[in-house]
Amino acid sequence: MKPIGKVLCVAVLIAGLIDFFWKDPFNPESLSGARVLLTGASAGIGEQMAYHYARFGAEIVLTARREAVLQKVMEKCLTLGAKKIFYIPADMSSPSEPEKVVQFAVQKLGGLDYLVLNHIGLTRFQMWAGDVEYTRWLMQVNFFSYVSLATAALPTLEKNTGSLVVVSSLTGKVPTPFTTSYSATKFALDGFFTSLRHELIMQKRNVSVTLCILGLIDTETALENTRGKVYLTASPAAGAALAIIQGGATRAQEIFYPWWLQPVCCLWVLFPYSRNQVLQSYYNYSSP
Ligand code: NDP
Repeated sequence: MKPIGKVLCVAVLIAGLIDFFWKDPFNPESLSGARVLLTGASAGIGEQMAYHYARFGAEIVLTARREAVLQKVMEKCLTLGAKKIFYIPADMSSPSEPEKVVQFAVQKLGGLDYLVLNHIGLTRFQMWAGDVEYTRWLMQVNFFSYVSLATAALPTLEKNTGSLVVVSSLTGKVPTPFTTSYSATKFALDGFFTSLRHELIMQKRNVSVTLCILGLIDTETALENTRGKVYLTASPAAGAALAIIQGGATRAQEIFYPWWLQPVCCLWVLFPYSRNQVLQSYYNYSSP
């Protein structure tokens, strides 16, 4: 047998052994009747998460700004098997909304097992043009509202040994061009929620914190934002949604989707000197 054939045989054997011994810790039945508050649920990855949770038989509260769209997502969730479902329209740029949303969810579901923080404000994929006010606004929507929602939900999550699931991005680990303000909000999430996880463990408070690091996903807004600017293939939103849900259900500290983002983040830390050349080869920019 040729050497390449031997290598292939060994690789297939190893893959077979991994497949045989690997026990997927995710138990879909654990989500039947689970009480979930899901933000950014009217579109993109959040909408796909709503459908997955519904198929698993969860009890769900959906939130986003557009009431008519939430209503449609809710109706589809009912046909897919959601045990209970409600929605509450809310704009997370308003500092008073997060607490109201958590109160509504706790009242409708009688408590919470999962808080899934997923919404984002309108994202500009462009060079920094000095708009400080926009950055302040985006911080409110993408970061401060997450902190407020988590703070309001912690007591009920603790009572129910629940989980906080925070959707972040590769740009919250690796700063890329055209994402100054967005990347800042995602780095803030990593800092806050990783520190919070440490504190909860130190205090033996049984609430898990799962940070979800996503690459480019094929949602309408992401594809529109990056068209002609990025040489990357987008991964499917339904797959990202399932990976997030599984991460939360298995109480993982971090998940990466697609999986190869994890080695990318490690290489980023290990090889600081060639970062600019590597990164810029994935972006299209011609000076005006
Ligand atoms: P979308 O733009 O498709 O959806 C955003 C959701 O947030 C919508 O439901 C929208 O609903 C809601 N939303 C927008 N503004 C507000 C607001 N002011 N208050 C409350 N809700 C609001 O986003 P994606 O599905 O693409 O992204 C979901 C998550 O995944 C985000 O955290 C994002 O950072 C992360 N991610 C996505 C990537 C991608 O390539 N798609 C890559 C990496 C991370 P409505 O308009 O009705 O309010």
